[in-house]
Amino acid sequence: MSPAATPPHPPVPARRAVVVGAGISGLSIAGQLAADGWAVDVLEQAPGPRPAGYMIDFFGPGFDAAESMGLLPALRRRGVLYDSLRYVDATGRTTARLSMGAFLRASRGRFFSILRPDIEDGLREWLPAAVTVHQSAPVVSVDPGSPGTGGGAPGEPAVVVLREGTRFEADLVVGADGIHSTVRREVFGRGEDTLRLLGYHVAGFIVEDPPLARDLGPVVTLTDSLIRQAGLYALPDGRVAVFAVEATDNPSVPRDQGAHLATAYADLGWRIPAVMERAGDEIYYDVVAQSSCPHWSRGRVVITGDAAYAVSLLAGQGASLALAGSLALARALRAHDGDLGAGLAAYEEQWRPVAETQQAAGRRNATFFVPSGRIGQVVRRVALRIMGLPGVGGVAARRIFASSLPSKGHTGD
Ligand SMILES: Cc1cc2nc3c(=O)[nH]c(=O)nc-3n(C[C@H](O)[C@H](O)[C@H](O)COP(=O)(O)OP(=O)(O)OC[C@H]3O[C@@H](n4cnc5c(N)ncnc54)[C@H](O)[C@@H]3O)c2cc1C
Repeated sequence: MSPAATPPHPPVPARRAVVVGAGISGLSIAGQLAADGWAVDVLEQAPGPRPAGYMIDFFGPGFDAAESMGLLPALRRRGVLYDSLRYVDATGRTTARLSMGAFLRASRGRFFSILRPDIEDGLREWLPAAVTVHQSAPVVSVDPGSPGTGGGAPGEPAVVVLREGTRFEADLVVGADGIHSTVRREVFGRGEDTLRLLGYHVAGFIVEDPPLARDLGPVVTLTDSLIRQAGLYALPDGRVAVFAVEATDNPSVPRDQGAHLATAYADLGWRIPAVMERAGDEIYYDVVAQSSCPHWSRGRVVITGDAAYAVSLLAGQGASLALAGSLALARALRAHDGDLGAGLAAYEEQWRPVAETQQAAGRRNATFFVPSGRIGQVVRRVALRIMGLPGVGGVAARRIFASSLPSKGHTGD
């Protein structure tokens, strides 16, 4: 008698994840969840990839995370290396200069600059086919469901609803929808009240200007100015990436941001007024703020990236921490496979102290970055001159990289 044929196992249904937001956090967690076998839908409110933003210095934990995720080659191809940084006064005269060589050596070459939209572009190229990105998909409500128990009780799915009414049920919802997160507001009842405004507005945009790009060359140029600061980075293709920071207590951003930039920076001199006049339609403009929500997960929902722990440009690590935080989340979920609640709790326990350390560093940097008075400006000039002395630059750079987190440990390597 032949043995009875073993019945085939029924296919295990894929776990479904919905990621809200196709920024750096959203795309990076989506790709990692898909690699772990999740079926992933990314819901993004914008109609397509967003071209706005400025140049980001990319190093530290995000660099290590990108390497672990296999993303680094796609980012390096889009990166740019600058050889120095200089401050200029209103006549264009150089008031301080720093070589980037010390930074490159201290990071052992693990440092480059990259436009924010180019990080997203690299992530989209890296994304596995199993991820579906829905553009023009603004999320308006989220029900967190319940994860059940590690012992096998199923719980309830989370439900995400788009503005036009489409519903998505999911085993996991990741709120990666930025500093003004809808997911944070819906699930934790905490919105803008979790934002710590740091007293600045920031703008970033890109202009086509081959003559200016040629004049700037491989030198990051920043204005040595009070209350406001503008910075210019030439790109190899003749474009120039501009950022502008203004000290202001206004909690709302101007309605006509282009017009505001043209007026607010008109007296900075040198080439700045002409550049600001050309800001155009694609401007990234926001308040400079940090988010801090008392909880990062509830039911089947977790928040990550700026939605959970925005550090702001004053910490200079937002994109880096977005990538590294998503790697920490993916690893915690993998380590607690089958127990979602435990995975989400482990993520927060590991990553919150890292993010909060960077937030504190960002707050300390504020007055150095944009001095409000002559004394602060002189202190910055002196500090930069000292950093430019032979031997000192290397020590300072090593300090900066050391304080940018003992990266391997924190990304879980
Ligand atoms: C257009 C833009 C330009 C930026 N430029 C810079 C820059 O030049 N330098 C810098 O340091 N930082 C910049 N930032 C912030 C920086 O990208 C973040 O600090 C960091 O990368 C963390 O990214 P994140 O993915 O957590 O959040 P974000 O980059 O803010 O991404 C959040 C995404 O969620 C989407 N979203 C928001 N609400 C919803 C909703 N209800 N439904 C669906 N989707 C939603 C947003 O459209 C966005 O694509 C920029 C952000 C944006 C959105």
